[in-house]
Amino acid sequence: MGRGDGGRSQVAPTGSSGTTSFDAAAVRRDFPNLDREVHGRPLIYLDSAATSQKPTAVIDAVTDMYRCHTSNVHRGVHALAEEATDRFEGARTKVARFVGADPRAVVFTKNATEAFNLLAHSWARRRLGPGDVLCYTQMEHHANLVPWQMAAADAGFELAAVPVTDGGRLDLDAFAEIVSGGRVKLLAVTAMSNVVGTINPVAEMADAVRRANPEAVVVVDGAQSVPHMPTDMADLGADFLCFSGHKMCGPSGVGVLAGRLDLLESMPPFLGGGEMILDVQLYGATYNEVPYRFEAGTPMIAEAVGLGAAVDYLSALGMDAVRAHEVALLEQVLPALGEMRGVTVHGPADPKARGAAVSFAIEGLHPHDIGTILDREGVAVRAGHHCAKPLVRSLGSAATTRASFYLYNTTDEIEPLCDAIRAAQAFFEV
Ligand code: PMP
Repeated sequence: MGRGDGGRSQVAPTGSSGTTSFDAAAVRRDFPNLDREVHGRPLIYLDSAATSQKPTAVIDAVTDMYRCHTSNVHRGVHALAEEATDRFEGARTKVARFVGADPRAVVFTKNATEAFNLLAHSWARRRLGPGDVLCYTQMEHHANLVPWQMAAADAGFELAAVPVTDGGRLDLDAFAEIVSGGRVKLLAVTAMSNVVGTINPVAEMADAVRRANPEAVVVVDGAQSVPHMPTDMADLGADFLCFSGHKMCGPSGVGVLAGRLDLLESMPPFLGGGEMILDVQLYGATYNEVPYRFEAGTPMIAEAVGLGAAVDYLSALGMDAVRAHEVALLEQVLPALGEMRGVTVHGPADPKARGAAVSFAIEGLHPHDIGTILDREGVAVRAGHHCAKPLVRSLGSAATTRASFYLYNTTDEIEPLCDAIRAAQAFFEV
């Protein structure tokens, strides 16, 4: 599907080399699914915050693993086993480099959610108890709320949530108040909201919590930020970073827990069995070194290799360029939606203060009705609570409509989105 000149960003973003020009029309050609039609209309995919489309390079990497290198990893002496292991461990190194982590401290999980559950089980449940506080925020995805709630119920520590202001930002005064007592031992915060797009001041928050308690551990939810902007764990002040492959052009079924090696080494396993041991006796076992201690059973081999290919793909474009392209899109999307009759856009108005997940409300229309009509027009958006019920409730509703953009979206897709919204308003006569 050709979309004219709108593929080229209005800005001339520079990649890490300082020379990359971002051509979204060319990028689109790397994503075969974007060629398809839906209900007889060209697909306009605005649901990348839920999961991204996959480039041919990733699809080929996964296919190649099954077609040419199928074997289990780590435990074979034959050629295929070595090939599979090399590719699997190579992916770990690529992922580590992508976020500034030590490859020995990169654990492959099923998804971001499992990474949080691992931390809740192997760190929070053991290190926190009565009198301790775990601080999270009202902006969190359920994956960064519920595992901590389950651990708190078992271990007896307290939970404190930083509220969200009307502008869709964290209330940093309330945060300062929570940390001032020095009882916060774990801060869990998202780098970028999956609902309102807000980019949070994670590094400053990490500093503040450590000033009050030098032992405090900082867990960052990178599920939305890692796919969309350059990430460096040290810059974020993160002890742990959790994210998912499927939102960053990679396969589903693989996620990442990147951490501080010393902390991971001090933690017991999450799941038992397979290669997570050094030795097993009939009545006991000694555990393997990190990261294998946390990878029980046969891992997601082809998926991890596919994630490595996704990292290669994004790195070749340059994450600075990806981010600049999305800011350029937001500079047009936010006013285009904001100026529409009856439409309220949630979250920060400044494109530089937010990511490309854009939630909005339309007066008189339910998000599910909007989503259904938009789908008939070929526009794929998501309607619902986006697994962030406490945040969505603070917006005064049980649900929002969310259009979320990524590197393959173009400015040519903005007007069709607005047209589809007008069609929904006309259909329901609001
Ligand atoms: N955190 C955020 C901010 C998310 O957007 C998501 C996915 N919607 C998750 C965590 C959980 O990711 P997954 O479902 O891949 O585990």
